[in-house]
Amino acid sequence: MRPMRFFEDHSVAAQSLLESLPSGIALIDDHDAIGDLNHCLADMTGYELHDLVGRDIQILVPTVQEDTNFDLREEFARSPSDKHIVRYRNLTVLCHDGSELSVDFACSQLKLDGRSWVVAAFRDNTVQRAAEDARIVAESHAVAIETAAAEALAQSEQRFRLAFEGNMAPMVFSDRSGMFLAVNDAFCRMSGRTREELIGNDSKQFTYPEDVGITEDVYQAINSGETDQVRYGKRFLHKNGRIVIAEVSISPARDETGVAKYYVSSVRDITEERALAAQLSFQALHDPLTGLANRALFDDRLSQAHARVARQDGNGAVLLIDLDDFKGVNDVYGHLVGDELLISIARRFEQVTRASDTLCRFGGDEFLYLAEGLNSRAEAEQIAQRLLGVLTEPFSINDVHIDQRASAGIVVWDGTSTNIVELVQNADAAMYEAKRQGNGHFVVFTSDMRHEAASRFALVQELRQAIASDQLSMHYQPIIDLTTTEVVGFEALMRWSHPERGWVPPDVFIPLAEKSDLILELGTFAIQEAVTAASSWEPSGDRALSPYVTVNLSARQFHDPGLVPMIERELERSGLEPERLILEVTEGVALIDISETMIVMDQLNRLKVGMALDDFGTGYSSLSYLAALNPKIIKIDQSFVRPQHDRKRSDTLLEAIITLGNKLDMIVLAEGIETSAQLERLHNLDCDLGQGFLWSPAVPVDEVTNMLGEIPKI
Ligand code: C2E
Ligand code: MG
Ligand code: MG
Repeated sequence: MRPMRFFEDHSVAAQSLLESLPSGIALIDDHDAIGDLNHCLADMTGYELHDLVGRDIQILVPTVQEDTNFDLREEFARSPSDKHIVRYRNLTVLCHDGSELSVDFACSQLKLDGRSWVVAAFRDNTVQRAAEDARIVAESHAVAIETAAAEALAQSEQRFRLAFEGNMAPMVFSDRSGMFLAVNDAFCRMSGRTREELIGNDSKQFTYPEDVGITEDVYQAINSGETDQVRYGKRFLHKNGRIVIAEVSISPARDETGVAKYYVSSVRDITEERALAAQLSFQALHDPLTGLANRALFDDRLSQAHARVARQDGNGAVLLIDLDDFKGVNDVYGHLVGDELLISIARRFEQVTRASDTLCRFGGDEFLYLAEGLNSRAEAEQIAQRLLGVLTEPFSINDVHIDQRASAGIVVWDGTSTNIVELVQNADAAMYEAKRQGNGHFVVFTSDMRHEAASRFALVQELRQAIASDQLSMHYQPIIDLTTTEVVGFEALMRWSHPERGWVPPDVFIPLAEKSDLILELGTFAIQEAVTAASSWEPSGDRALSPYVTVNLSARQFHDPGLVPMIERELERSGLEPERLILEVTEGVALIDISETMIVMDQLNRLKVGMALDDFGTGYSSLSYLAALNPKIIKIDQSFVRPQHDRKRSDTLLEAIITLGNKLDMIVLAEGIETSAQLERLHNLDCDLGQGFLWSPAVPVDEVTNMLGEIPKI
């Protein structure tokens, strides 16, 4: 028999009330049995209504110890009368299919028919529970997120602090007005100021006065929102007064409305960089030895001046100044003294250089001077006078007194000049003329000099062709033993038979060839011809040895590494005994680099090739070098044999040189003997050998054989 529902005995009103409630309701008696329930509870739990009537409430709410249901039931059981209605949240109800249902639960006591009942109401709270859980998760998430954010913030703040404080680059935090809020150590070092001196102030106090406006413009541009990151250059003043050139990168931190609230600036000290760049550009445009403008800067100034003269009235002038015989200074005193002298000369020239003019070292011992705004050619001549004038006072370098003069070529141009390239060339042509007139002169360019320069240029071109087209030949001038009057040798002298110009003297074409490698070609030709000729010369009379041949060498040749191998080759090819070849060099050539000269001399000695010191007495005639070089022959220059003036002095020198040569065991040869009187004097002075027109000029190779043996005077 099924148990009867409690309310079946009661009014329909009570029944319908029970059924109308949205919660599950159970009526539980004092033995925990379910007296009645509504359909809502049966539906919630999946039971049929009658399955539950009369059953212990445990079927729905099992009390297992350590379960919250147990605690709740215990609590309710302990003080049922204390609270009229007791509410619990999250009571677990066991459903018919074994699943659990979370409910909110409320119960109250009910006295009915003298019996004590508990009215229990169950409301499914699954949905709220889920929402609640979600809220809790969200809340805990929010907490976690906040915690993480706080940590991240702390970390990033620390990182920022490290990046800011420890940064090698000077950094600054400033507010909208540019006032410093924070500065790092590097910034303090760069500005030479402490934090206390900086914070609360702006950069105006130590910005280079002219650059204050730059900073203000930058702040204005950022504040107006025009730009964000700005990089700009400005100069700071270090506390010690030094100017610091800086590159500043500034960026604003804006709030959400885009207003710049404060600024972070990072500064780079580029003072050294700038100094280096300036130095590099200075080096690119200046001569490293004298600090004067170099050719590149001069060319630039010249083209500007040329353009200005074309626009305005007046003249411009270029002066080419060339030091006279400067090579001798290097030869005798060495390159260090030569360099010092060039520097001293540059300083003296500077003293008379007008601010608007440009002085340039053109290279070697040449200087260029550019003048503008001249009214006449006479003004250009005055400049030349001033420049050459500062050299009249001797120089004193390392306790050595040096008298150094210069010559100048001047070109004056006006607005009609169209060819800027020609200006320096014309000054050079005028210089050539000045040198021809003798040292210490200046000459103003005239158009006829241009023709001469052009013809010199053409001559060089023609000289290149001359070897190939057999225009060059060697002539031989006999060398006479002054005691026996026998021919002991011949000097090989180059001759150029030009198809139109006739004989071109070596004094003209050798210096031109010496300006390029052409001289090496000519030199090789001279040796080849001379050794070939000499190899066929027979000994004459009682002499055991055939005449030797002397060949002149230029400086370029003597210092050419190919020289010794070439001589060796030619000796072998021609079969000439090496003792019969003597190379003539002038003092200047030998002294250019004395240590290198000694090496070459040593190699020639080993080949058994001899050396003659040519034109002795015209150079610096340094006695210590003479002993070191130990030439086989010294050739006394013709100017001592045929003195133009001050004959007495020349005689004394001639005597001294011959005595010196004899004492040093060198053969002394006198050049340019033209008269018997000269011969007699030299013979009396114990001069060994002689050369000169008295016997013969240089003759073509096929005439040499006629001269072997004793030679009559002409
Ligand atoms: P240098 O070596 O001093 O030659 C002597 C010069 O004096 C020669 O002039 C010769 O013809 C000339 N001479 C000889 N005796 C007399 C005389 O009694 N009176 C006068 N007035 N002059 C006399 P040249 O042949 O015109 O040579 C001039 C210079 O050219 C030479 O001077 C030498 O420095 C150079 N030279 C000639 N040939 C060569 C060569 O093959 N190579 C090199 N590097 N230089 C050479
Ligand atoms: Mg000579
Ligand atoms: Mg000579």
